[in-house]
Amino acid sequence: MLISGERKLERMRDGRVVYIGAERVDDVTSHPAFREGAKTVAGLYDLKADPAKRDLFSYEDDGELISLYWLRCRNRDDLARRMRCCKAIADFTYGFVGRSPDQVSGLITGLAMNSALLDRLRPGFGQNLLNYYDHARKNDLYLSFAVTPASGRKDSGLFPGQQRDDPNLQVVAEDESGVTVSGMKMLATSAVYADEILIGNLTPIDDKFKSEAITAALPLNSPGLSLWSRQPYALPVRHEADYPMSYRFDETDSVLVCNQVKIPWERVFLHNDAAMSRRIYIESPANCYQNHQSNIRFWSKMGLIVGIASRICQANGIDKIPAVREQLGRLVSLEALIGGLVAGQIEAWENWPDGFATPNRRIMYAALNWCQEHYTEIVDTLRTLLGGYPLVMPASIDVITDEALGGIFERWWKTASIEATERHKLYKLAWDITGTEFAGRHMLYEKFYAGSSIVVRNQSDREAPWQSFHDTVDRLLANIELPKV
Ligand SMILES: Cc1cc2nc3c(=O)[nH]c(=O)nc-3n(C[C@H](O)[C@H](O)[C@H](O)COP(=O)(O)OP(=O)(O)OC[C@H]3O[C@@H](n4cnc5c(N)ncnc54)[C@H](O)[C@@H]3O)c2cc1C
Repeated sequence: MLISGERKLERMRDGRVVYIGAERVDDVTSHPAFREGAKTVAGLYDLKADPAKRDLFSYEDDGELISLYWLRCRNRDDLARRMRCCKAIADFTYGFVGRSPDQVSGLITGLAMNSALLDRLRPGFGQNLLNYYDHARKNDLYLSFAVTPASGRKDSGLFPGQQRDDPNLQVVAEDESGVTVSGMKMLATSAVYADEILIGNLTPIDDKFKSEAITAALPLNSPGLSLWSRQPYALPVRHEADYPMSYRFDETDSVLVCNQVKIPWERVFLHNDAAMSRRIYIESPANCYQNHQSNIRFWSKMGLIVGIASRICQANGIDKIPAVREQLGRLVSLEALIGGLVAGQIEAWENWPDGFATPNRRIMYAALNWCQEHYTEIVDTLRTLLGGYPLVMPASIDVITDEALGGIFERWWKTASIEATERHKLYKLAWDITGTEFAGRHMLYEKFYAGSSIVVRNQSDREAPWQSFHDTVDRLLANIELPKV
């Protein structure tokens, strides 16, 4: 089933508890902090439900339409098809919504390609996961996840049973109906717009704290669950033209707080296994499917960035200067590079796990590392091309509502190639990507959404065919002639 945007908005009005500081938000679809973001999500649901776009966004299973990102790929063509769907979704938000509905769904889809892994931990967990996979895809659910311990409150070397003052999310009780969890987890991006949230662990936890090793899914309106939002960037915006990205594309981040939240066993996929609570994502295609989407999204983001860079240079009248063209040429080569890395993951696809198709893991992790290393520098290149012009624009586009001020603005703020209001929109857009709080958050996002660089490079290290590299060196060394004694 593919639901409409209107239905998606209704689902957000399910009584979930969201705080902005001390303020309790009753309805995220009407509150100015989240309203426009909610509309963006609804727009995406309408787009993928459009009958004219059926092939792009969905596949059929038993006569039922399912969003294509839930597809467990069997071959290269499936992967290419799924990639086109993710690219179209990313293009819809210009690559600025990271945890779009095709992101965490990739993780669940990947787990569903090796559910036996979970059954080995406790019989029944694998079936729970498969049932959940079915439930989520058939109901067109939007999933978010919180799989990181609250920062600065990691394993402090305490012994089991010792009272800790850090409230990492953990199981505090269990009975025949399920588990009860309490504590907090960071950082649930998009959760205010999603339908359900996956809790788990992407970072290692010590076996002595295995009560934290719980992997489960729960609705966002579960009793006892609340989302503590960071500053919403849309809130202070009076006019879209002043902060175009903050206004419409703030995907939001919240700390997940659970106070005695009950989760039935059917929604539990792992319990009390510290080591496996992290390994399930790499012993199945979960991590790869999820982050392949991130690479595709970064590609969309690069498309917007290079387009803005070029438009800015045109507006400034510097676009014909050879040294400026060299900068644009460099930027656009980086855009092509990430596109190539995405395509390469599909061309070099892996028949893994047996009978399924997964994007090439090494290239996926290499792309992830590349994006993590380069985003700040790419944004800095754009910011440098801007010069000081974003700060020349008036505080608000509302100057055009005043006849006298508007007249001056239209006359003196235009350039030979662009009208004043168009210039305002363009520069404010560029500033929202290079200088505002929204921009700063994105620099943090690209550095950390998949774990710190230590985590990401460790994935490349693990997947590398070191034996083959060693053999290469050894072959060369073996042929080096030594002087005769
Ligand atoms: C915008 C944003 C959105 C996010 N969305 C989500 C989400 O949807 N779901 C979710 O679960 N999580 C999310 N996260 C959290 C993310 O997973 C974590 O930020 C990430 O895993 C890094 O963990 P941390 O923040 O605790 O930093 P840390 O791991 O503490 O790292 C902080 C710094 O210390 C360095 N460091 C840490 N350990 C070492 C060491 N041993 N040696 C040298 N240097 C070290 C790191 O390299 C890094 O520079 C999000 C984060 C951001 C910023």
